[in-house]
Amino acid sequence: LWNTTQADAENSIRELAALAETAGSEVLDAIIQRRETPDPGTYLGKGKAAELAEIVASVGADTVIIDSELAPSQRRGLEDVIKVKVVDRVALILDIFAQHAKSREGKAQVELAQLEYLLPRLRGWGESLSRQAGGRVAGGAGIGSRGPGETKIELDRRRIRARMSKLRRQITAMAPSRDTKRKNRARNHIPSVAIVGYTNAGKSSLLNQLTDAEVMVQNALFATLDPTVRQSRTADGITFTYTDTVGFVRNLPHQLVEAFRSTLEEASDSDLLLHIVDASHPDPHGQIHAVREVLKDVETGDIPELLVFNKADIADDAVITGLHAEYPEARFVSAVTKEGVGELFETIESMLPSPNIDVTVLIPYERGDLVSKIYALGMVEHEEHGGEGT
Ligand code: GDP
Repeated sequence: LWNTTQADAENSIRELAALAETAGSEVLDAIIQRRETPDPGTYLGKGKAAELAEIVASVGADTVIIDSELAPSQRRGLEDVIKVKVVDRVALILDIFAQHAKSREGKAQVELAQLEYLLPRLRGWGESLSRQAGGRVAGGAGIGSRGPGETKIELDRRRIRARMSKLRRQITAMAPSRDTKRKNRARNHIPSVAIVGYTNAGKSSLLNQLTDAEVMVQNALFATLDPTVRQSRTADGITFTYTDTVGFVRNLPHQLVEAFRSTLEEASDSDLLLHIVDASHPDPHGQIHAVREVLKDVETGDIPELLVFNKADIADDAVITGLHAEYPEARFVSAVTKEGVGELFETIESMLPSPNIDVTVLIPYERGDLVSKIYALGMVEHEEHGGEGT
């Protein structure tokens, strides 16, 4: 990290660690180097790169993630010194987007961003390692290997550019109308809560607290569903889902803005936005504002929002008091101490739309015995059944 304060560098590294965990990595260690300018050959200075090589060997890491965008030659240079795969911030974020993209538009946007990123790097990840005798790219199935990997991208640049133009044309043609989205939402019978907010705000910790008991009981039923979707149940026994959206990041690389927005499309199909904010962050207002601005762009304006300040256990008391006054509707919780989580769950329940439950009672009359069976047909749209039960 260059030209930043120590506190900024540490915040950024914490965010990078949270991103890496989102992508499914286990973070073993972190180091910060302060330098005027990056080394053109290895990004880190020679001494620091050697130190990193030792750390990598001692903790048994298979990947190093750099909190910046690397030139292809710097990545190869660093891989030569540390002997494991090097991934930069952009590749990490793209990887997370690829995991989250659901809609056709989202997938197209992410592929476009991946190709844009790959184009100047056509020689591929880990090539410098495979060139070495006995060299091997560790962690081959990890970050950077989802989406169009190097085996698929043995097309020449011209073909990649052609693919990119095609994707751009498709994306323009796809933009769904607000109306279509609303219809989709009406057709979506299971109420859904979309969790939005910055990476590191505690979205996944809170999701775990909110769904803990349910996950154990209901695992089998939803096991085949998307891993970013969790189900829960209200006290009245109504099933609903939580969707964990991609976290916002500080200084999102410019070329990823569109892809990021498209991963938030799923939020526009939800019934409630759970907007999680880190109350201990130095600038919660700035974060709230940034999240709301982007949500406006993905047309979530008519979906109710519940603002939740997390990390109440470590936030400054005066800050909490100020936030309380400013956002009287907001909830204050801690995913660590669990304070406020029960009340939060109740608030979520109360804000969910009541589903239309259609119950049909069949009473076959056999040899004088009255046998009744009750079939709960789930949530059926009113106009489809017209109320006639048989
Ligand atoms: P996400 O990126 O928004 O999903 O955030 P995570 O759930 O991964 O949490 C980011 C970091 O904040 C982790 O180190 C958590 O342990 C920590 N964290 C989450 N919630 C709380 C909280 O309520 N209090 C404290 N002190 N730390 C928390």
